[in-house]
Amino acid sequence: MASSSDLTPLSDRVEELLSRPGPLPIVAAGDPVLRGAAEPFDGQLDPALLARFVSALRETMHAAPGVGVAAPQVGVPLRIAVIEDPAPVPDEIREVRGRVPLPFRVLVNPVYEPVGTARAAFFEGCLSVPGWQAVVARPAEVRLLAQDEHGGPVDEVFTGWPARIVQHETDHLDGTLYLDRAELRSLSSNEAMARWWAQPTPSEAAKGLGFPL
Ligand code: ZN
Repeated sequence: MASSSDLTPLSDRVEELLSRPGPLPIVAAGDPVLRGAAEPFDGQLDPALLARFVSALRETMHAAPGVGVAAPQVGVPLRIAVIEDPAPVPDEIREVRGRVPLPFRVLVNPVYEPVGTARAAFFEGCLSVPGWQAVVARPAEVRLLAQDEHGGPVDEVFTGWPARIVQHETDHLDGTLYLDRAELRSLSSNEAMARWWAQPTPSEAAKGLGFPL
């Protein structure tokens, strides 16, 4: 049964979230807000409120720390996400994973489609599934169609780690978690990752845990 708070206009919900200082609380897996299709953004927040919300999402992403946060992860079912990755990783990992710096950007109403058939499989994690990582094979290159925070059109091709981030965050807006696409036998705690699977690729993990790559 829906509670009355579900009927509160999204702008009121966002105002309430922003009324408290600091990073926004992140919703964990199991909350239905992470499993529904978020509403297309169509002016539900006025430009000033949208700007404040985007700023809070960015602060929340930095504080986590993470490389992306989608609005449903803070309990707001709108098709908005922020992404940013300074990519502070060793050169070997940067080369193998294509983890190049991704400047901050806002994705409004994003959709992506694969470019070509190449796939890349690496461990990834999610702020809404804290403490765990799993291997996800994803299209290695995607075309992103979206709007920016000012309503301007975005049509851009992403490869490497930025392509993974774009897919992960856009999936959140469709109620999809990375675990839905993961090799579940690869599921590893952060402690196990550090102990066993810190290599640049998951090939050792595939052998050790018994999953296909
Ligand atoms: Zn996530």
